Amino acid sequence: MRKALIVDDAKVVRVSLSRIMKQLGFETLEAADGQQAIDQIAAHPDTCLIMLDWNMPVMNGYDFLLHLRSIPEHVTQPKVVMVTTETGMNSMLKALAAGADEYIMKPFDKDMIAGKLDILGIDYD
Ligand SMILES: [Mg+2]
Repeated sequence: MRKALIVDDAKVVRVSLSRIMKQLGFETLEAADGQQAIDQIAAHPDTCLIMLDWNMPVMNGYDFLLHLRSIPEHVTQPKVVMVTTETGMNSMLKALAAGADEYIMKPFDKDMIAGKLDILGIDYD
């Protein structure tokens, strides 16, 4: 089953995103900060999609993204969708330059997420 990693320090957001991703046919993993996300990716290198918050303690989403994209190229790189309130143009450009594939502004819903998966060419149920 396709694996999606949901990274957000707010449990209510993780629960909500996880429910939507399961409805779309994904197995979901969760992390509450960038460091936990690094650990999850190491344990689940077949993860195909990461839904990534920006503002988190310990390691924020931007620093996690830089780390993720520095992993050698032979490792299959998951698609990354930033899911954040950091939606200023400068933040969006910074995240895209660091290797984010798409951007979703909170609050999100299932249709918005499905639309981004269409753009990214990721299959879902
Ligand atoms: Mg946050």
